[in-house]
Amino acid sequence: MSQTSFLSEPRDEEKALQNAPRVAVLVAAPVGQPYDYAVPEGMALEVGDHVRVTLGKREVDGVVWGNASPNNPEKKIRLKPVIKHHAVPRLSEAQRAFTDWVARYTLSDPGSVLRLTLNQPDAYEPPRPQQVYALANPQPAVRLSAPRQRVISILQAGPVAMTAAALAEKANCSTTVIRAMAEGGVLISQSMAEPAPVSINPDHSPVVLSKDQVTAAQSLRDLIAKKEYAAALLDGVTGSGKTEVYFDAVAEVLREGKQALILLPEIALSTQFIRRFEQRFGQSAALWHSEVSPAQKRETWRGVATGRTQVVIGARSALFLPYADLGLIIVDEEHDASYKQEDGVMYNARDMAVVRAHLGRFPVLLVSATPSLETMVNVEQGKYHYLHLPSRHAGAQLPVMQVIDLKNDKPARQRFLSPSLLAAIASTIEAREQVALFLNRRGYAPLTLCRTCGHRFQCPSCSAWLVEHKRKNVLQCHHCGHAQPLPKACPCCNDDANLAACGPGVERIQEEITEAFPTARSLVLASDIVTTPAQMKSAIEQIENHEVDIIIGTQMIAKGHHFPDLTLVGVVDADLGLAGGDLRAGERTFQLLHQVAGRAGRAQKPGRVLIQTVMPEQQVIRALAAHDRDAFLRAEMAERQRAQMPPYGRLAALVLSGPDENALLLACRQLAQAVLRHDEIRVLGPAPAPLAFLRGRHRQRFLVKASGAASRGLVLQAYMTEWLSGVKLPSQIQIKVDIDPQSFF
Ligand code: ADP
Ligand code: ZN
Repeated sequence: MSQTSFLSEPRDEEKALQNAPRVAVLVAAPVGQPYDYAVPEGMALEVGDHVRVTLGKREVDGVVWGNASPNNPEKKIRLKPVIKHHAVPRLSEAQRAFTDWVARYTLSDPGSVLRLTLNQPDAYEPPRPQQVYALANPQPAVRLSAPRQRVISILQAGPVAMTAAALAEKANCSTTVIRAMAEGGVLISQSMAEPAPVSINPDHSPVVLSKDQVTAAQSLRDLIAKKEYAAALLDGVTGSGKTEVYFDAVAEVLREGKQALILLPEIALSTQFIRRFEQRFGQSAALWHSEVSPAQKRETWRGVATGRTQVVIGARSALFLPYADLGLIIVDEEHDASYKQEDGVMYNARDMAVVRAHLGRFPVLLVSATPSLETMVNVEQGKYHYLHLPSRHAGAQLPVMQVIDLKNDKPARQRFLSPSLLAAIASTIEAREQVALFLNRRGYAPLTLCRTCGHRFQCPSCSAWLVEHKRKNVLQCHHCGHAQPLPKACPCCNDDANLAACGPGVERIQEEITEAFPTARSLVLASDIVTTPAQMKSAIEQIENHEVDIIIGTQMIAKGHHFPDLTLVGVVDADLGLAGGDLRAGERTFQLLHQVAGRAGRAQKPGRVLIQTVMPEQQVIRALAAHDRDAFLRAEMAERQRAQMPPYGRLAALVLSGPDENALLLACRQLAQAVLRHDEIRVLGPAPAPLAFLRGRHRQRFLVKASGAASRGLVLQAYMTEWLSGVKLPSQIQIKVDIDPQSFF
């Protein structure tokens, strides 16, 4: 007996619904496929339309994904109606195809991927009408004060109509001035439903490009003119003018009437970049990252969907905005590990940008001074165009690199800066230039130890030491955030005189600097100290105005900053990133230190970089010192090829976690027994994950390694799906699949 026969006979309106047209809707919830819904009378829907439907007992938003499965009169399934058709433009075919593609590639539910796009439910509501001001035409003949003249020129140059608040802010006057101008007939005010389009002027203030820049820019213009997919790498040392080159490409796309997306890592803190964009284009781009206010996000979402917003500068999630007509993606610092989303849908925004460009048939440009091996191999294989800026702009010299062997040039006891580095700092600040000291470790000390009994302070929920943060007076876990007050005495032996901080963090380096240079002004840049865009802006301004002599920072100081007076960079511990045996440890260290080094001597004054290490013979250090990136890349490539590791082979990580260790081990054994035989795919493990205990859960890891034909296309994904579907695990065991893992914790 079929299940449907239990259903009661449908009533009339339900009958009408059963015969109504139907659509398949993908909802923004963890669902594996679109579901069918009935289209009520009077509603016309097409593929791509945004709708609200019910899912179980909830109402959710979704997008019409296609036609419903054919109406089968035998199966009287009661379809639920579409509740509402949202009045926003359709999701483009390219964006829909992208959603499906990301889902297949990352082994995620399509509904979860769609949720990355439909994450601004407020954006469906029409905006409240706003009072905006525009220039009266003709203008009354009156004399105008300076602020009033500024208001006029802003409206002449930029958006034709703006709110009083926006105008006042830009013209640096009060809103009373704006209202008075309207009363005097200089401005007219009107009510507007959508914000006025901000038209970005591609020709606002372009720089004159150098010969090398012109060559690269022209290649990009040619790619853009073809209106097809193309991928290119723009490779050039820091300060070689890559940004100006890709601004030229953005301008070109704007002239074509299309939208452009610039992806940046850690965009929230990139205030200098945002200012630069405004200077070049006369208008600000829309920003998209976690710190942007909900109201602003909603406006950007709508603006992107209607085409009103032309340029987005964003973090990785900006890839999932509902672009009306995207024509170019720039991925700046393409090698940066933060492009990888590490939870939920685990995607690499750099790689997905390439996919998005392919599906949308437009060019994508990857930009870096230290391209990833993945990208270099794509260049070698002719898949990516190669554009190169060989030297720094306007003849600025690359910094002089000097390696300090800490075995010979020893810091004082319990200190971390060698005599040579201290001497270099002294002469630099004497010359009224600035110093940056780089140490990629937050806090005061990475480990606290009792010298009497040997007790070490460990996180109660993770296999990790607690890091001392002196400013906040806490011991903190950098994995789960657990914090406890700094202890007065050892909890094991009660000795209150023998707790020792081991090793340095940036706070401890500042202490050492203050002791050695009592009159020098220093500042710490680390993500737990500088947490908001406003704080970052103020820190950058202090450095630019030379109110700071010595900057001590984590990788936060490595990013794109341009400080003309900064001439000395000291790397406190170059070996830090090399420990741990991560696949990309060498590559990462090279990229990071190269980028840090690039902060030195960017303007007229020559720079130098001092690298402290106990392993001066390390290949990474030697390559850095010799400015020989390509030798390093070649060696690294040969090594990866020999081991059939990415980018030559492909990896997937499978992390299982659970509160009970025995249950976890049992689940791992089940999975290990279900491993499928495959000539080109090997399953390694299970083994305890490097962080074997995290947030109160035990963790075990499998690594799946594909080579040859299995490393291409979706072979590995198909293998994973088949393997995992063969095993039923208890619900307390969580399982996470990471295709192309970037971090191996
Ligand atoms: P990169 O992005 O490669 O690090 P930038 O584009 O930031 O390099 O350029 C470095 C510096 O040189 C910046 O201050 C930039 O404004 C300046 N610059 C680059 N190209 C030009 C140019 N053609 N004309 C004038 N200034 C330029
Ligand atoms: Zn912890």
